[in-house]
Amino acid sequence: MKSVAVIGGGISGLSAAYYLHRSYSDLDIKVYEPADRPGGVIQTTVNDGFLVEDAADNFITTTPDAVELAEELGLADDLIKPSDSGRQACVLSRGRLRPIPPGFIIMAPSRIWPFLTSRILSGWGKLRAAGEVFVPKRRVASDESMESFVCRRFGREMFERLVQPLIGGIYTADPKLLSLAATMPRFSQMEQEHGSLIRAMLKQKKTGTRESSGGARYSQFMTLRGGMSKLVDSIIEKLPANTLQLQTPARAMIPLDNGRWALRVGRASNEWTHVDGVVVATPAHVSSDLVNSFDRRLADELGSVNYASCAVVSLGYRRKQIGVPLNSFGFVVPLIERRLILSCSYSSVKYEGRASKDHVLVRVFIGGACQANLLQLPEDQLMELAEWELSDLMKIQGAPVMRIIKRHMRTMPQYHVGHLNRIRDIDRRTQNWRCLQIAGSALRGVGVPSCIKSGREAALKIVQELSSRQPALSYASESLA
Ligand SMILES: Cc1cc2nc3c(=O)[nH]c(=O)nc-3n(C[C@H](O)[C@H](O)[C@H](O)COP(=O)(O)OP(=O)(O)OC[C@H]3O[C@@H](n4cnc5c(N)ncnc54)[C@H](O)[C@@H]3O)c2cc1C
Repeated sequence: MKSVAVIGGGISGLSAAYYLHRSYSDLDIKVYEPADRPGGVIQTTVNDGFLVEDAADNFITTTPDAVELAEELGLADDLIKPSDSGRQACVLSRGRLRPIPPGFIIMAPSRIWPFLTSRILSGWGKLRAAGEVFVPKRRVASDESMESFVCRRFGREMFERLVQPLIGGIYTADPKLLSLAATMPRFSQMEQEHGSLIRAMLKQKKTGTRESSGGARYSQFMTLRGGMSKLVDSIIEKLPANTLQLQTPARAMIPLDNGRWALRVGRASNEWTHVDGVVVATPAHVSSDLVNSFDRRLADELGSVNYASCAVVSLGYRRKQIGVPLNSFGFVVPLIERRLILSCSYSSVKYEGRASKDHVLVRVFIGGACQANLLQLPEDQLMELAEWELSDLMKIQGAPVMRIIKRHMRTMPQYHVGHLNRIRDIDRRTQNWRCLQIAGSALRGVGVPSCIKSGREAALKIVQELSSRQPALSYASESLA
């Protein structure tokens, strides 16, 4: 019987295990995970009647891997879309929450009138942004930072007041360093193909793909009725009983002359196991330590992926405590507003079943690459800080009826300028090793669907490599393609 070890029990590793098992049920698969529960950053809990997500609370459907996996796992009826009402986001602007103009998606206004009448930018700022149609396209083919791209095309004011907080909300990143090519390549494609993002958006409008929400394309998102942990639990249910090895970190891995791998796993120093293939699905700094003993250059590339940290404070209130209308899905906070939170998501407005009718659940994000120092505060002070900011911004009376905090330390990979070159190098080095695959959020997308895709692709490659050694496996790789 062939055996494969999956290192890391987050959604990337679990997806790899699921697709390995689906393709070849006789394969002996073990998932090694140091925590006492699977899922990595994904975790849903129910606290005092509120359904709280520690990290991801939904996923995009344009990368179809999460929806496809959910459907395959029998969760089709549990997939839910964001509520129809309130499909917009606000931005804090000179101390007030204002709606992001409808049609303004991340950085490109697809509808001119709402953009021009919005009070987020000054008259000069709007004029400069509208002048984007006259800005010549960039001739240099190299990667560019998000900040440089947006300031060059739309001007600094639009960057600071709209784009920075929206990007900060997604990547918790410093836009000065964030790679456009690795995160949102379609915007540079628009520039190259149409000479202007505004022109490209208007063209899309003519072809009927008009966007009515502002901030994100909410119509393209989904979640699971019982929360994101449903996905994790359903994968586990499909795997053989002893696949998941909790409280079992991988501590070393060594390639053997016979083409197999020796892994040191668990907390005791003498636990070794020998396997035919390995999927490494840990954060890049952990993967770097694991491969360091046999490929220093691969370890260096993995180790150079930076990570940011953040805290998610979930607060439950009685509806009547809140003094602002809950007619959006939340708000983002530009750094120039000099507040101490990045964003706030109105979880129970966005998705049904997150709080009772009389209550509201909100999630406050703190930290990220630009406010990393805040993460040094103890948890009670972070919660206090979130409550204090919200009581001012959302005119909240009194204390929350539920509060919970999750600190995510070094869990958010930062795709800095040059990231794609680094990934190419990582791929090249990995190919030198038989039946070794690297998966996870550090490589080709931080979103849940991209992580699932990375796990599935890793599984496919392992199955292909094993099948080239053993003909009996060959039908399996076909079923995964
Ligand atoms: C606050 C937050 C909000 C987010 N919101 C969204 C969202 O709304 N939508 C979306 O699509 N995405 C979102 N994401 C991103 C997405 O959730 C993650 O990118 C994804 O879940 C990462 O999965 P992963 O398996 O690659 O990594 P992880 O979840 O980090 O899993 C890695 C696993 O490796 C394990 N590990 C570490 N060391 C070892 C070792 N030595 N041996 C074995 N295992 C080890 C860890 O314990 C962990 O379980 C969010 C992320 C965060 C942090």
